[in-house]
Amino acid sequence: MTASIATGETILVVGGGISGMTAALEAAECGKQVILVEKSPTLGGRTALLYRYFPKLCHPACGLEINLRRLKGNRNVRVITMAEVTKIAGERGNYAVSIRISPRHVNENCTACGACAEAVSAEIPNPANYGLDRIKAAYLPHAMAYPQRYVLDPSIVGTAEGEKAKAACKYGAIDLEAKEETLTLPVGAVIWATGWQPYDAAKIQPYGYGRYPDVITSLEFERLADPHGPTGGRILRPSDGKPAGNIAFIQCAGSRDENHLRHCSRICCMASLKQTQYVREACGAEAKSTIYYIDIRAIDRFEDFYRKVQQDTSVRFVKSKVARVASGAGGNLVLHGVDTEGYHRYANEHDLVVLAVGMEPSVQGADIPAEIIADSSGFLESSASGGIFAAGCASGALDVNRSVQHATAAALRAIQVVNRNAGTEVR
Ligand SMILES: Cc1cc2nc3c(=O)[nH]c(=O)nc-3n(C[C@H](O)[C@H](O)[C@H](O)COP(=O)(O)OP(=O)(O)OC[C@H]3O[C@@H](n4cnc5c(N)ncnc54)[C@H](O)[C@@H]3O)c2cc1C
Repeated sequence: MTASIATGETILVVGGGISGMTAALEAAECGKQVILVEKSPTLGGRTALLYRYFPKLCHPACGLEINLRRLKGNRNVRVITMAEVTKIAGERGNYAVSIRISPRHVNENCTACGACAEAVSAEIPNPANYGLDRIKAAYLPHAMAYPQRYVLDPSIVGTAEGEKAKAACKYGAIDLEAKEETLTLPVGAVIWATGWQPYDAAKIQPYGYGRYPDVITSLEFERLADPHGPTGGRILRPSDGKPAGNIAFIQCAGSRDENHLRHCSRICCMASLKQTQYVREACGAEAKSTIYYIDIRAIDRFEDFYRKVQQDTSVRFVKSKVARVASGAGGNLVLHGVDTEGYHRYANEHDLVVLAVGMEPSVQGADIPAEIIADSSGFLESSASGGIFAAGCASGALDVNRSVQHATAAALRAIQVVNRNAGTEVR
């Protein structure tokens, strides 16, 4: 790829989750040239790792598939995966961006046949399942991955395992000599859609994440419930592999807390309400979910979903900020706290504890130009005069629907900037 692919009328989108894909497609379908840069080996971001979407409980694959079809049919978007923006210089309408591309060691000849994965025996923690299981060190990130191309983990490059992968590929797709590259491109506007990351649950010391294997995060629970996940969709305890049916959901794990994240992550209540329905689906009449909450934040159309879950006899609500999690009999966990509706102390036993962890912006460490500012939680706010715009969860904790709306608005603002370069400003 050379610098000639870009001009001052090009829009750069950083982050290939649902927000970045949306912004890129909206701009490209308006005829703009777009470069979409994603740091992982595939587009889709965190939504591709959800089992179902609230409130309709549909599969994220549908939304992803529609966007991938739009993307494949549009020649205005160039996707660069395994790439990060290292520097942005210049000003609105006239930026020079430096992009560092890591080697994938698998070129475009790959047909995703999987022969390389069969040939190697080395394994790595599966990034798509948050390390809950292991996969071969030559892998397809997930079934819907785009590009549909395998990746070689750097740990096997330069080893006999890497050579085995190369020998097994009859299409000449394995390139063990590939090196890191750096590109510098001119662009007129930038959309920053780098999304969110979960708050580090191990920092919430009283809840025992990392100390008790059966305390997991809400993201890990999405994978446990998913048929493509580490347990084939069976909700099993990580400690002993026994089926879990009496599950505690602890809300505001790291959110609305002066010691952790001050902001409300807005999504977690809906995510836990949704996940009680996974328990219902997996365990039927035996299902027992208990939501420990400060208050449930289910806004607008989500209120109906909240009411529906309230009617579900398998779901119990306890208004309480859990004080601590301790180990109990038979490998179970005991939640201690005070129910603030009756001021009763409780010590409730559960076989699995799910922490509804807060969302923080995944912009830490990135070299963000001074013209885009961050709020007190680190979420980005686009300035009125610049040419760099935040989109989706980089700007705040948002659900998918709101991320898409926000990304569409960011695309419009970026188009306005590059149109000035093209001399097509409407006065
Ligand atoms: C437990 C849980 C359940 C949820 N369930 C639902 C649900 O059912 N329905 C719903 O509507 N919402 C749900 N959400 C919210 C949903 O996950 C977000 O709305 C969605 O992920 C936002 O997409 P995004 O593209 O803004 O961010 P992300 O999904 O985080 O995508 C960001 C992308 O940017 C890439 N990136 C990051 N940094 C860089 C960089 N420096 N350079 C290049 N690329 C970079 C990342 O690799 C990623 O691909 C849930 C959230 C949680 C925590």
